[in-house]
Amino acid sequence: MEKTIFQKIIDHEIPASIVYEDDQCIAFDDIDPQAPTHCLIVPKQLIARLREAKKEHQALLGHLLLVAGEVARIKAIDPNGYRVVINCGRDGGETVPHLHVHLLGGRSLQWPPG
Ligand code: AMP
Repeated sequence: MEKTIFQKIIDHEIPASIVYEDDQCIAFDDIDPQAPTHCLIVPKQLIARLREAKKEHQALLGHLLLVAGEVARIKAIDPNGYRVVINCGRDGGETVPHLHVHLLGGRSLQWPPG
């Protein structure tokens, strides 16, 4: 199977502005930011999307959320607040089939999203 763009970033084959990395995940700036701060937190293990996540991924999914909070602190958007989003499937707006958590902040975000 062809590597996704995120797998190439995980493998350090293409550049990204990496904010955080550990043995389970990597976080980097989104190339097309929708807010002053827009980072993606991506597990190194390939799970295509949330729909494909299983019980065995429970700890990893929790880790991704904790890392989102850590990246918010690194980016200094923690005091004012931020939004964490996972797009799943066509109606969710998913474009890259490798699970990822969006972290958005640095401005007041509207609700509901479009
Ligand atoms: P989604 O629509 O939820 O699948 O999100 C995919 C995100 O990946 C989008 O916000 C894109 O802007 C972002 N993206 C695509 N290619 C890259 C890249 N090479 N580096 C950083 N972000 C990317």
